[in-house]
Amino acid sequence: MKTILVVEDEPRMRQLLQAYLEQAGFRVIAVGDGPTALQAFRRERPDLIVLDLMLPGMDGFDVCRAIRRESGVPIIILTARVEEEDRVVGLEVGADDYVTKPFSPRELVARVRAVLRRAQGEVTPPPVIRVGDLTVDLERREVRVGDRLVHLTPTEFALLATMARHPGRVFTRLQLLEQIQGVAYEGYERAIDAHIKNLRQKIEADPKNPQYILTVYGVGYKFRGEEGP
Ligand code: CA
Repeated sequence: MKTILVVEDEPRMRQLLQAYLEQAGFRVIAVGDGPTALQAFRRERPDLIVLDLMLPGMDGFDVCRAIRRESGVPIIILTARVEEEDRVVGLEVGADDYVTKPFSPRELVARVRAVLRRAQGEVTPPPVIRVGDLTVDLERREVRVGDRLVHLTPTEFALLATMARHPGRVFTRLQLLEQIQGVAYEGYERAIDAHIKNLRQKIEADPKNPQYILTVYGVGYKFRGEEGP
């Protein structure tokens, strides 16, 4: 049985999260603040953490950073639907995914399962990724749409490979920029949009209605996961 650590200061929300996840078959440890969360994390070694960003004292970003210094455990952050910036910052301090409040039990459990599945799959990324008509050969650095070989620039290939290695995972523009340049400059984030546009022209049947590289509004981009667009 997988263990999930839930970190949420509002008692009612905490109880709801615990009930949803227990009903879905997980063992749940629920705590109400950052320092207790770190203790519970070290003691229980959970398989995944559901972390609210709005916590009194040590906030969710600090908790996320602290855990990331010790562990690659999957982390899903909870944010308010209006706080787009929080999602971006949350992903940049090491969260794997986010769920926006208010959410349905089904949505939360689906996201938890998807992130757990992804975390298991990430141990051995396949050298050749196939989704629909698209084939990305990471070793040969070749991309095909059907039988047609597509010529990508090194930057375009790096972007596609980064996302395709983690299907379904959302990347912020800054994270993608770090992948292609090693060092990120915030002012160049918009350059990513231009590269993505070119990449879509080359690999998408209809670049205006992309099937492989999906826009995550207000956050960034992701490669289509096994769950579909
Ligand atoms: Ca809260």
